[in-house]
Amino acid sequence: MSEWKMDNDIERVLYSQAEITEAAERVGHQLAHDYEGKTPIILVVLKGAALWAVDVMRYMEYTEVEFINVSSYNGGISSSGEVSLVTDIQSDVQGRDIIIMEDIVDTGRSLKFMKQLLMDRGAKSVKTASLLDKKEGRVVSEDVEYIGFDVPKAFVVGYGLDYSVDGKELYRNLPYVGVLKKSVYAQEHV
Ligand code: 5GP
Repeated sequence: MSEWKMDNDIERVLYSQAEITEAAERVGHQLAHDYEGKTPIILVVLKGAALWAVDVMRYMEYTEVEFINVSSYNGGISSSGEVSLVTDIQSDVQGRDIIIMEDIVDTGRSLKFMKQLLMDRGAKSVKTASLLDKKEGRVVSEDVEYIGFDVPKAFVVGYGLDYSVDGKELYRNLPYVGVLKKSVYAQEHV
């Protein structure tokens, strides 16, 4: 485990680096099995899912990689409720099998937005592989087919997930996932 200043802001570690590596292997093998003989597009949702996507796709034989960036957080710890497209996918998804790689599914709004976009553009299939599933946070009902871990309703950071404040993306590079201490964002509304 790292021993950085940032570690002091973590209330408790939920998933260690070793546990995440194991989860990535498990999900990667499931995907390799389920998409055998196909070349799905791994759609990495920037920026939080970058580490997860890289770790999972090592176990898959054929993939193409694309990126998308949607925004429902204006920094801080709470969702704005409105999803917008920040960076679009570069390739045509018509007739393609898509695996959305998410860091965390909370309200489900971002996922719903992306699935709709992909289906409107003629994707053949759309499934989701998320490192974390915060089921208690769901506002719109969205299923996640491949899950690393179910996570409790708390604000978590690390392994790609950040706490963004004053333009700084903090804690993203922590090698584990942990709950951020409330004192760090005490001045914000939860
Ligand atoms: P949703 O649209 O499902 O509410 O939110 C999905 C996005 O919200 C995630 O991709 C992530 O950027 C952000 N998010 C939701 N919960 C958390 C959390 O606990 N920690 C962090 N860092 N981001 C979160």
